[in-house]
Amino acid sequence: MDKVFGNIINGKEETDGEKIPLNSPVDGSLIGYIVNSGRETVERAIKSSREAFIKFYASSTISSRQKLIGKLADIVQEKAETYAQLESQNTGKTIRQSTFMDIPLAISHIRYFAETDEFKFQRNITHPEYPGTEGIVQNAPMGVVASIAPWNVPFLMAVWKVIPPVLAGNSVVIKPSHYTPLTAMELVKDMKVAGFPDGLVNLVNGTGRTTGTYLIESDNIDMISFTGSTPTGSKVMEQAAKNIKKVSLELGGKSPNIVFADADLDHAVKGVIFGIFLNAGQLCESASRLIIEESVMDKFLEKMKTYLDSMKSGNPMEFETDISAITTREQKDKIDSLIKETVDAGGKIFYSRNMKDAPDHGIYFPPTLLSGLHPGSRVSDEEIFGPVLTVYPFRSEEEAIELANGTKYGLAAGIWTRDLNRAARIASMIQAGTVWINEYHLLSAAAPRGGFKKSGIGRELGIEGIMEYTQTRHIFYGNNASGMSDIAYGILIKST
Ligand code: NAD
Repeated sequence: MDKVFGNIINGKEETDGEKIPLNSPVDGSLIGYIVNSGRETVERAIKSSREAFIKFYASSTISSRQKLIGKLADIVQEKAETYAQLESQNTGKTIRQSTFMDIPLAISHIRYFAETDEFKFQRNITHPEYPGTEGIVQNAPMGVVASIAPWNVPFLMAVWKVIPPVLAGNSVVIKPSHYTPLTAMELVKDMKVAGFPDGLVNLVNGTGRTTGTYLIESDNIDMISFTGSTPTGSKVMEQAAKNIKKVSLELGGKSPNIVFADADLDHAVKGVIFGIFLNAGQLCESASRLIIEESVMDKFLEKMKTYLDSMKSGNPMEFETDISAITTREQKDKIDSLIKETVDAGGKIFYSRNMKDAPDHGIYFPPTLLSGLHPGSRVSDEEIFGPVLTVYPFRSEEEAIELANGTKYGLAAGIWTRDLNRAARIASMIQAGTVWINEYHLLSAAAPRGGFKKSGIGRELGIEGIMEYTQTRHIFYGNNASGMSDIAYGILIKST
């Protein structure tokens, strides 16, 4: 019988309801069917999370929650190989990437939240206007967080969407992408094994058009934590405005890698390739624009070609394969049409990798370099979300900064130079939430990340990422020492 991936509500998997087929982008094989949840199911999941929030928050502390998070890290660590297999089969990312990057990175992030002592929950204050009085400022949980995740790094995204809110005292209803629910489901099941109470994290499967919409339309959630494309983020924010819900939005990008002639070019070539071709360019922070000092451009591109020629295409489930699949057919069609439009408008395909060893019936797009482009064209300004690098020469520092900041996005950037004064000067002019100097894609759980401009609102990771899931409560401890009885109340009430 075909496997059905259902919802996890109140600790039980439910597989009833409408089904959507789930195929692997590796070779097109059928993985199983996922449930497409309706409004009634979504509301039931929210209600269960509300009940769990009320019970659990009152009876837990930061340290008891951190203990459970630590246990979860141990369980996931033991099953790391299973997680890596599921992740690669579901997304088409290479098994090497899942095994050595996505899964261990996610585990280290779970551990960070289990161990960080940065989140204190409350601080004491005095009130200068009322001598002798004290107060407490609390970072109280929001309540029930509706977490919505994309398909490109499903396990890491599930960790980011579930663990920081739970640490801050919330409960969660998570909706993974209907293309890639497998590792998020495994995580929620393993939370039960770790000892988290049933219902604290519920998972509903389904498309954005149906399940996602029902989740954000509900007036029974307290916050929406969304990661996905900028156009969907805009719809989410519009809906949140109607119900006055807090939102955090982690959206798309069009990140630049700026390479100066004085950079360590051998290191920079590797960093630029890693920046765009990791995960076949399907990362929000993918450095899809190379902004390169004109005097070294030709030499640099030739070096890139040599490395790209040596990368192995093939079945992503084999450890020797370097090039990941494209996770969805829709995404591949989008990339195809953007490249066709660019070439029709005079853009030049400078390089396109042969992909003949990739499995039949899988979804693949060759690593591609495009040159002869100008800012203002769609391919230069819009997120491609595929293994396509566009190249722009520059002659001055000012021109490099202008090109780098010249899109509506502002997620990340890379600067490659041996002159660290220049790097620092430029980094502080770049409109982006993360700037790497002489590296790319190095994520740390301690470092907040998120977007400037249309790349988002709010931060994930670090103390800022935990605080995102809180709201501030001030508790004022009054006493007679405030003098209020004699002075302020006397404004209204005459003393007797
Ligand atoms: P998407 O916007 O299509 O979907 C994201 C999620 O939202 C999915 O779970 C989807 O089902 C759901 N959704 C879609 N329409 C919805 C609606 N109307 N209401 C509620 N939910 C809805 O994005 P995607 O194609 O899954 O992911 C790729 C995008 O995600 C890229 O733009 C990428 O840059 C972005 N991304 C950003 C970050 C970040 O941290 N900034 C990280 C990863 C991915």
